[in-house]
Amino acid sequence: MTLVAGVVAVQGDVTEHADAIERAGRAHGREVTVHEIRESGIVPDCDLLAMPGGESTTISRLVHSEGIAAEIRDHVAAGKPLLATCAGLIVASSDANDDRVDELGLLDASVERNAFGRQKDSFEAPLSVTGLDEPYPAVFIRAPAIDAVGECEVLATWDDRPVAVRDGPIIGTAFHPELTPDSRIHGLAFFENDDAAVPADAESR
Ligand code: GLN
Repeated sequence: MTLVAGVVAVQGDVTEHADAIERAGRAHGREVTVHEIRESGIVPDCDLLAMPGGESTTISRLVHSEGIAAEIRDHVAAGKPLLATCAGLIVASSDANDDRVDELGLLDASVERNAFGRQKDSFEAPLSVTGLDEPYPAVFIRAPAIDAVGECEVLATWDDRPVAVRDGPIIGTAFHPELTPDSRIHGLAFFENDDAAVPADAESR
């Protein structure tokens, strides 16, 4: 059965996420159709969602004004997987510590924007991630750190700060897993757990 994926496409690395989802799907023997989401009405058809990085202030403003925010909340409430990366993680969090960000409050975590400092604006780090056998080459670009993790499970830390977490059907990463050829984070978010990859209504079939 072909899965339907959505990439929130108001800003950020949309085609890179779409490619990574397709590659991860192939690696797990799953066929995926990817939709770019710029308006409401598409998310309800999606089995899995990615929310890319960019600028969290802009992304949060647009997902609310386009009516996508409520649909993303419903998606997660239905237990369907969401991968929220960098600014996407900030938007998904419960507290961005910035009044200009209207958080979705989906991920039980407080974040600090641009936590890794200016001189290290962009760097790559070999990250040990729970669930992955080998270190993951994580690209950080003006990345947030996760301040308090609430109910979240910490999957990876850098400089003693959480940079990847899982909260139910959501994986949030401070880094950009769409920017390397390594699609294991997308695999972890969408295809490792069969229950998460199968649409909620499939159970009754
Ligand atoms: N610094 C950005 C923000 O706070 C996030 C950067 C990114 O997504 N690469 O929104």
